[in-house]
Amino acid sequence: MSTPDSVPESLDLLVVARQQFDRALSWIDDLKAGLVDYLVNPRRSIHVRFTVVMDDNSVRTFHGFRVLHNNARGPGKGGIRYHPDVTEDEVSALAALMTWKTAIADVPFGGAKGGVICDPGKLSRAELRRITRRYVIELGDSIGPHTDIPAPDLYTNQQTMAWVYDTYDQLHPGQNNRAVVTGKPLELGGSVGRADATGRGALYATQQLLRRKAVTGLDNLEGARVAVQGLGQVGATAMRLFHGAGARIVAVSDSTGGVARKDGLNPEEILAHKRKHGSVVGAPGTVAISNEELLACDCDILIPAALECQIRADNAAKIKARLIVEAANGPSTPAADDILQAHDIVLLPDIVANSGGVIVSYLEWVQNLENQQWDLETVEQFLEKRMVRAVDAVIDRRNALEEKAAGSGRAAGKRPTLRDAALVTAISRLVEVVLQRDVWL
Ligand code: NAD
Repeated sequence: MSTPDSVPESLDLLVVARQQFDRALSWIDDLKAGLVDYLVNPRRSIHVRFTVVMDDNSVRTFHGFRVLHNNARGPGKGGIRYHPDVTEDEVSALAALMTWKTAIADVPFGGAKGGVICDPGKLSRAELRRITRRYVIELGDSIGPHTDIPAPDLYTNQQTMAWVYDTYDQLHPGQNNRAVVTGKPLELGGSVGRADATGRGALYATQQLLRRKAVTGLDNLEGARVAVQGLGQVGATAMRLFHGAGARIVAVSDSTGGVARKDGLNPEEILAHKRKHGSVVGAPGTVAISNEELLACDCDILIPAALECQIRADNAAKIKARLIVEAANGPSTPAADDILQAHDIVLLPDIVANSGGVIVSYLEWVQNLENQQWDLETVEQFLEKRMVRAVDAVIDRRNALEEKAAGSGRAAGKRPTLRDAALVTAISRLVEVVLQRDVWL
């Protein structure tokens, strides 16, 4: 017989995002009737199918999406993902995450996301360029500097954004179109500091969390043992910067496996080995571990910086870290959140921890609109201030919710998490704007 306990947990990101939202909603008392429908559903969801000539002269049809979740606080903002398994549901969930992330970061954007079903590992540069151009042409004016502004995400990069810009610019001649996309190469109007922004933001957020004494027994990064899952743009930067801030990197992994060293890994040596061999596995002086072993390793801070739903009901109880910093989007499931909370493991949620990318994207957008180029110091100072402000807002909200729960005699075990506090903050900010704008009249 099937019992509730035997129902497998959903790893569908849209289901996960909805469960997180519903949990946060239970902390909000006075939401206007009917608003939930408006808050959870995307404003617009576009499907495009386009055909591209392949290198062997055959033609192939690709399927892509662009979802605008909400634009009450400003134009949509969110990456474009190229992946064989990307679905409309996944893109919708990620677009909603962007709505909450931009609200927490307090940048004047809404949430959006895009994706094309394709396997970049099996496509040539010329094929990727043609796919990107056709995708942008199909999206037409649904993207634009004041409507919806894409950026890189999984398996898209600066070059992809350069193609997005160039295609849009050809379709809209005679005007400054640089602000249509962020994450561009520097020469095309990209911002200094954008490439490192997400990893650097995660560092600033962690430092502020520790300064605020939100993690018992861990007041700063000096000697803190850190494990990083995923060594792409975000994970590799996080590894370098946490190491630079005094932490000891005890384990790292990529899609091919992981390596560990109790006395600490040297980030530059690991990255050099990965560049040469395409994998971290086999780096000199290290012990090979699996990704599951990395998640359960002896460390103080675990930084998932790869894929969704990595920390789940089946492995959360094995985690020994005191703090999880969600550098990836959606790396933990709601069931995992409950287990981590029961084990007193603090989790800094994705919509705060990885918001550095969208904060510096905002700076890139502003520089593009004003035809400006700022220096690295200006960008990093702005980023640090915003990350500190976001972490403070979330801790303060969590404390306020805790007080409220104690006052109302709410059931034990129903303490607010930092994720609840972050979502409550984001939802409240969006609702305030929506009600001020009276958007339906
Ligand atoms: P990326 O493509 O540069 O890197 C992904 C990394 O994950 C690669 O090193 C890959 O080897 C590794 N990986 C893949 N499968 C793995 C597995 N099973 N176990 C361990 N490692 C695995 O991507 P990225 O830009 O670094 O993004 C990583 C995550 O951060 C994604 O969830 C993305 O949505 C999120 N994110 C990125 C940014 C940004 O600015 N790039 C901003 C916010 C959030």
